Amino acid sequence: MSDHAIRKIVIVGGGTAGWMAASAFSALLERSIEIILVESDEIGTVGVGEATIPPLIAFNSMLGINEDEFLSATRDTFKLGIEFVDWGAVGERYFHPFGPHGQDFRGVAFHQLYLRETARQPLPDIRHWSMSATAAELGRFARPGPTARPPLSQLAYAFHFDAGLYARFLRSYAEKNGVIRIEGKLVDASLNPESGHVRSVKLANGNDIAGDLFIDCSGFRGLLIEEQLGTGYEDWSHWLPCDRAVAVPCGLASPPEPFTRSTARSAGWQWRIPLQHRMGNGLVYSSAHLERRAAEDLLVANLEGKGLADPKHLSFTAGRRRKAWNANVVSLGLSSGFVEPLESTSIHFIQSGIAKLLALFPDRRFDPVERNEYNRQMADVFEDARDFIILHYKATRRDDSDFWNDCRTMDVPDGLAAKFGLWQSKGRLFREGRELFGTASWVAVLLGQGIRPAETDPAVNAIDPDIARDMLDKMRSSYRQMAEHMPPHWDFISRACLAP
Ligand code: FAD
Repeated sequence: MSDHAIRKIVIVGGGTAGWMAASAFSALLERSIEIILVESDEIGTVGVGEATIPPLIAFNSMLGINEDEFLSATRDTFKLGIEFVDWGAVGERYFHPFGPHGQDFRGVAFHQLYLRETARQPLPDIRHWSMSATAAELGRFARPGPTARPPLSQLAYAFHFDAGLYARFLRSYAEKNGVIRIEGKLVDASLNPESGHVRSVKLANGNDIAGDLFIDCSGFRGLLIEEQLGTGYEDWSHWLPCDRAVAVPCGLASPPEPFTRSTARSAGWQWRIPLQHRMGNGLVYSSAHLERRAAEDLLVANLEGKGLADPKHLSFTAGRRRKAWNANVVSLGLSSGFVEPLESTSIHFIQSGIAKLLALFPDRRFDPVERNEYNRQMADVFEDARDFIILHYKATRRDDSDFWNDCRTMDVPDGLAAKFGLWQSKGRLFREGRELFGTASWVAVLLGQGIRPAETDPAVNAIDPDIARDMLDKMRSSYRQMAEHMPPHWDFISRACLAP
């Protein structure tokens, strides 16, 4: 065990993970800690990653980043949720919004009221009780601001952006804060034979860079966490069979909408992410069910405009590193694991890893208790998101391909099976610990994919049906009226980006 204070942090990799870490550490750690970031121009970054979730707003604001400057620099559009097409069954669609559905009433969850009322007399889709989904449907956007009141305060948003531009934006932020960038290719590392800690990394030009704490942001390979420390990887491909992606941007046929679209295909799904200047598209698929060439053809045939670049192919294995923090190496980003991008969680995992590392920062020595706690919390972050993503595959009625038959009939992790069982009997859902996806998210996917509970929670019977119906009508029209008063999404962006 090393017992000296951390004086020098070496970040390996300058993708989104590397520069997010460099920005946060340079802003929030003691100034006397030296931060070096090594990246290789020759290797480059993964070059995908365009959709985010709402907590990123807190990350940017923690760094004091002005949101309008960020929008201009990274060519963002706003994201109010995800539209899922053909997931429950071909021909169906639903919306997974950010923010809640309606409001709970006298301690009864909103979705229970909705379920009981729609059973008595069918109601429109539950998305009409979401501020974000209503605005998305009308193509509108307004920023709620800290003093907003309901229903506007219920609008939650994130961004669609070019992750490469975000990394560049953060690089300039971090360098201004004193982070030193070294361009070079890491070819080896030297380890302390007693502690097993990394002592230094060696670059192709022969330079050795020593450090106290190493942050592995080197992408899927995990140059330090895996190739040097042999940490091991927990493979989840029996639950998440998609292991390939192909991506092609295309031009915009119309002003960008404030939502991502995910369309299920015969052996995976296709993303459509509108940015200010282009549409991001990609197909995530299972190589056991679809060949590379057929995947590329399928994606290209479903583009809405002319492809702007050659198709980019990627391989991955869903899973996570057995320990996100091993010895004096903390992995962030793709080196720590990857759950496919269906719910845009990867950049959030980076943010979450940074926040947890700051909360457990090893300022004096490497304490195994702190390291274990970090690993436990990061395992939870990955596993909670994993289960929510598996739900999308499991809760399908599709039987039109081997892929969907395999997904529909697979066994799922115990935690998910228990949650599913509770929902199916009385529609009960509980958010445990710090789970990222709350009740509204689970309700959106479960109902959206046609899984209805057998009964409602008996607690809902205490509420008079006439009162419930009246309240539901009023809530729905308040969301609609509020959305109608918002500017069109594209007008909002144009104005925000022109702001000084
Ligand atoms: P990378 O971008 O791969 O960066 C690795 C860095 O390490 C680079 O700078 C590289 O030069 C450097 N490096 C590697 N080897 C060496 C070496 N030998 N010497 C020196 N430097 C080296 N996330 C989301 O949140 N939303 C999404 O919509 C989303 N979509 C995705 C779609 C796909 C198909 C995939 C595969 C991922 C997606 N992700 C998404 C994940 C997201 O792209 C990553 O989480 C994010 O970009 C962070 O990547 P990274 O920085 O860990 O790795």
